Amino acid sequence: MRRILTSTMQGRCPTCGISLAGCICAQLPRFQARPAILFLQHPQEERKPTNSTRLTVRLLGNTEIRRWERTAPDLPRGPCVLLYPFPEASVLAPADLERGTVVIPDGTWAQAARIANVLRRNPALEVRRLPEASLQAWRLRQATENGRFSSGQAAAMVLEIAGEPDASRKLIEVLDEAARRMLQQRGIMPPGPSVPATPPPPPIL
Ligand SMILES: [Zn+2]
Repeated sequence: MRRILTSTMQGRCPTCGISLAGCICAQLPRFQARPAILFLQHPQEERKPTNSTRLTVRLLGNTEIRRWERTAPDLPRGPCVLLYPFPEASVLAPADLERGTVVIPDGTWAQAARIANVLRRNPALEVRRLPEASLQAWRLRQATENGRFSSGQAAAMVLEIAGEPDASRKLIEVLDEAARRMLQQRGIMPPGPSVPATPPPPPIL
C-alpha cells in the first residue's frame, strides 16, 4: 500500500502535487495571517497529489498539519474549535479565531466525518460551522461543480471571517491554479475563463 501511495507522488512536487516542471511553489507569497488553523489529516490523504492542505500550509504561517492515526493527536494548547457542520454547531465567529485554533478534519468526506465524530466526544472542543453566507458565495462561485469544497477552501473561508481578505483571496487563487495545472497535466482542459485556449497545431510544412 505504501509503495502504491508513494508512486502516485513520483515526479511531482511534494507540496503542490504538480509535476516538477509545473510546480507553483517557488512563486508563492507567505502570509502571517491571524487565525491559527490545524488540519487533522487522515493518513490516506497524506500522499494524494491533490491535497490542498499542503499548499495552504505553504502559503500561511500559523497553520499546521497533524496526522490522524485512529485516535486524535495532541491538540494545541488553548481553546480549540472543531469546524464541522454538525447540527448542534454554532456559526464560526471572529471571536473564536482570536481566542484559539480552528481544527479542520482533512480527508474524503467520509474520512473527515469519522474524524469529526471522534473529536465531537471531546468536551474541550466546541463545534463550529461556516456561516451560510460564506457557503452561498461558494456555491455561486462553483455553480458548475458539485458544491463540495476542500480543506484548503474551508481555510480560505476561515480567513475571510478572520478579516484577512487578501490572504483568503490569494489562497483561493493558488488552489484554483493548482487544480487547473493538475487537470492540464492529466490532459483535461477545465472550463472557465482563466484557461487559455488550446493553441492551434503547428502548420505541417
Ligand atoms: Zn510545488
